[in-house]
Amino acid sequence: MTAPLRLSLDGTALAHNWRTLAAMSSGAACGAAVKADGYGLGAVAVAKRLAAAGCRDFFVATWAEAEAIAPLGLRVSVLHGIRGVDMELAGWGIARPVLSTATQVARWKAAGGGLCDVMIDTGMNRLGLSVEDLPLLEGLEIETLMSHLACADEDVAMNERQRSAFVPLAGRTGAKRMSLANSAGIALGPDYAFDLTRPGLALYGGIPRGELAAIRQVATPEAQILQRRIVPAGQTIGYNATWTASADTQVAILNIGYADGYFRGFSGTGAALSAGRRLPLLGRVSMDLIAVDATAAPDLAEGDWLALDYALPEASAQSGMSQYELLTSLGHRFDRVWSD
Ligand SMILES: *Cc1c(COP(=O)(O)O)cnc(C)c1O
Repeated sequence: MTAPLRLSLDGTALAHNWRTLAAMSSGAACGAAVKADGYGLGAVAVAKRLAAAGCRDFFVATWAEAEAIAPLGLRVSVLHGIRGVDMELAGWGIARPVLSTATQVARWKAAGGGLCDVMIDTGMNRLGLSVEDLPLLEGLEIETLMSHLACADEDVAMNERQRSAFVPLAGRTGAKRMSLANSAGIALGPDYAFDLTRPGLALYGGIPRGELAAIRQVATPEAQILQRRIVPAGQTIGYNATWTASADTQVAILNIGYADGYFRGFSGTGAALSAGRRLPLLGRVSMDLIAVDATAAPDLAEGDWLALDYALPEASAQSGMSQYELLTSLGHRFDRVWSD
């Protein structure tokens, strides 16, 4: 079976991005966040390639995600810790929990403990024990003590506030390693690297800060042309007739829409790419279809494939969605096609 839309995935760019982030990690080990099915690209395929590039620490959100990549035999941490119902899977030893509440700590100890990670909240007020809870960790065997930055993609005082709350925790828990930086945090420099960094977004082509300009695009949605038509002057295209042809216009109808994660926000701003030519979107994005101006591409015919303009920083500006959403919302109808 071949779907009429595919996600073209560049394995060379993925490995390049990890090496770039590892080199920027100032001697710290560089891990990889592969939660949300590898940010929508496929966690197994991503983790396999990153492990081959040298990555040794992987982060998922849930035990189901840990189970999905368990056959690869990697070192995996589950960021959301352990609920009671997770204890059976956790007992298999496929991953270690990142404990983030007093209840989780008690649950882990009651089950006999074992190697774990711990999340400390340094001001984001999302997941994590507070600094005052440190005595609870007595007796735990902690591999990595971590915290998470709330604003690493911005130059704000909160970054330094979180860092200086984290620094004094070194040596106080017996943890082997300290970890603070996500993708944007790596770009904040050596003071934020500690022993282990945890990039996600930038591995997959996201560029949250200018310092990460060397990051390369990994994922490109491509769709097949289902119909080529001429829209006569004065007629409109698509739902709510938002675009009107000012002259007879060559149009290609593509098999992709918002149900595939190609958001309605691209209406009037997105484009397909053909041999360096930009073919602007015309009218609204439908659930499963879009129309593009094919005037500049007279050679394109029904059945041909077109790439969407999906460089993440630009696509984010065009659609009004975050770079994260542009990756994690990519639907399940794509054939994922890796080069390398
Ligand atoms: C998702 C996540 C990361 C990766 O963040 P990016 O901004 O995608 O690099 C790192 N650490 C934690 C705790 C996370 O939840």
